Amino acid sequence: MAKEDFYKLLGVSKNASEPEIKKNYRKMAMKYHPDRNKEKPKVAEKKFKQIKEAYEILSDAQKRSAYDQFGHAGVDNSTGGGRGGFGGNAEGFGDVFGDVFGDIFGGGGASGGRQRSNVQRGADLRYNLELSLEDAVAGTEAKIRVPVLTACGECSGSGAKKGSSPVTCSTCQGHGQVRMQQGFFSVQQACPTCQGTGQQIKDPCRKCQGQGRVQENKTLSVKVPQGVDTGDRIRLGGEGEAGAHGGPAGDLYVQIQVKDHPIFTRDGANLYCEVPISFPTACLGGELEVPTLSGKVKLKIPAETQTGKLFRLRGKGVKPVRGGAVGDLMCRVQIETPVRLTKEQKELVEKFREALSSGGKHHSPQEHTWVDGVKSFFDKLTG
Ligand SMILES: [Zn+2]
Ligand SMILES: [Zn+2]
Repeated sequence: MAKEDFYKLLGVSKNASEPEIKKNYRKMAMKYHPDRNKEKPKVAEKKFKQIKEAYEILSDAQKRSAYDQFGHAGVDNSTGGGRGGFGGNAEGFGDVFGDVFGDIFGGGGASGGRQRSNVQRGADLRYNLELSLEDAVAGTEAKIRVPVLTACGECSGSGAKKGSSPVTCSTCQGHGQVRMQQGFFSVQQACPTCQGTGQQIKDPCRKCQGQGRVQENKTLSVKVPQGVDTGDRIRLGGEGEAGAHGGPAGDLYVQIQVKDHPIFTRDGANLYCEVPISFPTACLGGELEVPTLSGKVKLKIPAETQTGKLFRLRGKGVKPVRGGAVGDLMCRVQIETPVRLTKEQKELVEKFREALSSGGKHHSPQEHTWVDGVKSFFDKLTG
């Protein structure tokens, strides 16, 4: 049987825009709603399915382009072929109407429609994982305990007491929806008896109170790759909440939070640290040991080093988790003023001061620029 052209079915042109297609789909879906075609429900139902199929293809950019190129042959497989274009679990009519009316009426209609399907995907969960800087940089394997809703072991997730099973809801005969007359429309709503599941549990499971899921703690092992930083997250597929009524589980997102480090601060791939050096070392130069995340390294301090100077240790930073060059370790030296001087030491410093002032040279580069700056500032004020 030759299939009708999808564009024709929806009454749109080949280059119709997405909103245009959606608009016409709603219009046509309303027109062929079996409730409104009481004389020829079978014909309307068939037409409705065709419209639904056409919309499924044309509303998906990829499928639409395949259809444009190859016609029905280009999309038949992707829509489930022999089953009249209904993929997945969308066999019941409730789903078809649920989608349409969910779209059109929004709000209540939408929830009614979505709930028709018993199977619901579980919620995604988030877990905040605090890591030391060392672990974040080197990578680690963390054990985490997460409270999750898992399928109840007592009833295998059905919610019905062991040995019994849920029965078809008597209010909606298992459709999950009831039709309500509103003006000239007949509107679908989630069945109040079964909340849209289509099934009733006469004898609920004790362990889960009929929910089919129970709260449990589970321990997971999380592989943290090297180089992660605060704000990064790791997805553990299927480790979230169990789905309702045997639906697929959600995902677990592990959110990384790197703790402050007593020595290093991190900025992207670079690490920073402050290194105190003594006054004589700053004057005469020397060598000192500085810490890195992978052990101590020697840092050469040249003579006449000023406080605040940054020394770069290449490749001693972080290897970024998303790739790229390994960062550097930046050491900022801080010259320390000696404290708790003895009488003799104080005399030596005093002699040193006299020597500096009688030498006839500028020994304080900052001070001289500073004094000059202050002088010209005052000159401007008075001049
Ligand atoms: Zn149970
Ligand atoms: Zn019901």
